[in-house]
Amino acid sequence: MVGYDYDLFVIGAGSGGVRASRMSASYGAKVAVAEERFLGGTCVNVGCIPKKLFSYGSHYPDYAEEASAYGWDFGKPGLEWSRLIKNKNREIERLNDIYRTLLENAGVSLYEARATLVDAHTLNIGQGRHVTADKILVATGGKPQALDLTGSEHVIVSDDAFYLDEFPSRILIVGGGYIATEFASIFNGYGADTTLAYRGELFLRGFDVDVRQHLAEEMVKKGVNILWNTVVRSIEKVDAGLNVTLNDGTIRQVDQVLSAIGRIPNTASMGLKEVGVQLTANGAVIVNDYYQSSVENIYALGDIIDRYQLTPVAIGEAMNLASNLFGDTTKKMDYSDIPTAVFSDPPIGTVGLTEQEARLRCRDVDIYRSKFRALKDTLTGSHYQTMMKLIVDRDTDRVLGCHMVGPDAGEIAQGLGIALKCGATKAQFDATIGIHPTAAEEFVTMREPVAVTDTTEVAE
Ligand code: FAD
Ligand code: NDP
Repeated sequence: MVGYDYDLFVIGAGSGGVRASRMSASYGAKVAVAEERFLGGTCVNVGCIPKKLFSYGSHYPDYAEEASAYGWDFGKPGLEWSRLIKNKNREIERLNDIYRTLLENAGVSLYEARATLVDAHTLNIGQGRHVTADKILVATGGKPQALDLTGSEHVIVSDDAFYLDEFPSRILIVGGGYIATEFASIFNGYGADTTLAYRGELFLRGFDVDVRQHLAEEMVKKGVNILWNTVVRSIEKVDAGLNVTLNDGTIRQVDQVLSAIGRIPNTASMGLKEVGVQLTANGAVIVNDYYQSSVENIYALGDIIDRYQLTPVAIGEAMNLASNLFGDTTKKMDYSDIPTAVFSDPPIGTVGLTEQEARLRCRDVDIYRSKFRALKDTLTGSHYQTMMKLIVDRDTDRVLGCHMVGPDAGEIAQGLGIALKCGATKAQFDATIGIHPTAAEEFVTMREPVAVTDTTEVAE
């Protein structure tokens, strides 16, 4: 674009920003990206990747214990937490380098600096440097919301949990979303005395109620202490740890308190409002179906628009935007049937409507549900159960939702996501030959709908 330094300037080299930069450059645009912290953003550095590594690691004590039923004896497991952190950091640094190379190979200019808006076409990238761009993309993601109470300075957030010098032998986690349930499982698996304090009656609001109830039961079996209807009132540092006062007046002593109460968009002090970009009350950028903000040449996507805070969604939005801006398309992203997994222990894998959503949208809904002990557990004697559920529209026979709580649920839900995207019917599920012996085969062998349950009565 004549007169501007760049066709597109992207603020934030996270999941969405990196993909938008690379794709736009591949269409021939002159692109720059600014990153103030770490290449790859939240997912690579303090999100999906280190979380999944921690999650893998947290299962080994269980494996070691179960192994004895299979004839193995490994002795007493011991933990060197610092080795995990060191190995994890090395892997993240490798990924940071890969992101740098990807940007370089795509011909994208990288500014390792904080970028703020001076006007709708000009950015301040620090040290008195200004650059101009025809179009600007804000892909600055979010950050953990702080807990507001006396003693909050003693509380850590998920970013900190990835860099703890010492493993906390007693931890209290506040929240009831993805991060709280995942970290409760991680710390519990690594051997901490773990308490999860959720302010409502049942965590993971928005997920199918059977899924929420089943996960709660299984997490308790695994040893997590869950406190419902519980709010932390204050935290006091004492010699032996942290004294946490709860809303019922009781005091719990722990070594660490982790707050996981949601994330807030990174839009503060960026000059967005000053140039006319409209934000929601919690600071998310308001965009139309094409990620255009209230300022014509400024776009936003990913966590910053607060639709779905998931890496593949940010990437999908970025592909869509680049193609619309610099390719020859005019298409909207399809947000239906987004599969998702919660990497709790056991994990959740889910795609499509919950039973509660389906009952609101359809005249008649059939529910297929199965609970069983996994084959692997028959020798170990463990009493864990897997739960699977299908939601079917009786009028059209379309499968509207598939839900699972059990080992490998995330892996299984990905394939089911394709089936739902293709509009699969229950008859087609039934006509599919199972793979034996797997847990996943249960999704194609559930034949009898269950009687109507009272799960719809559970509070949202
Ligand atoms: P981000 O990845 O957050 O990138 C934004 C970037 O912008 C950051 O690098 C930031 O430093 C930079 N930035 C901000 N302001 C400026 C500025 N002014 N100038 C320059 N740079 C700036 N999603 C999944 O799909 N699966 C998972 O398993 C999963 N696990 C998660 C676990 C945790 C603990 C967390 C916190 C998140 C997890 N997520 C997961 C969510 C996922 O990480 C996000 O949805 C995704 O990273 C969003 O991408 P983004 O590009 O919108 O933002
Ligand atoms: P979530 O929005 O998922 O959950 C926030 C939780 O905190 C809810 O249970 C909420 O309760 C509770 N809460 C909110 N405010 C308060 C408060 N003031 N005091 C006590 N509790 C409160 O946020 P997370 O932080 O868990 O994760 C952020 C997002 O990151 C997720 O929504 C998800 O999109 C993404 N993510 C994805 C992962 C994956 O794909 N596996 C893993 C981790 C994160 P209530 O329901 O009652 O409002």
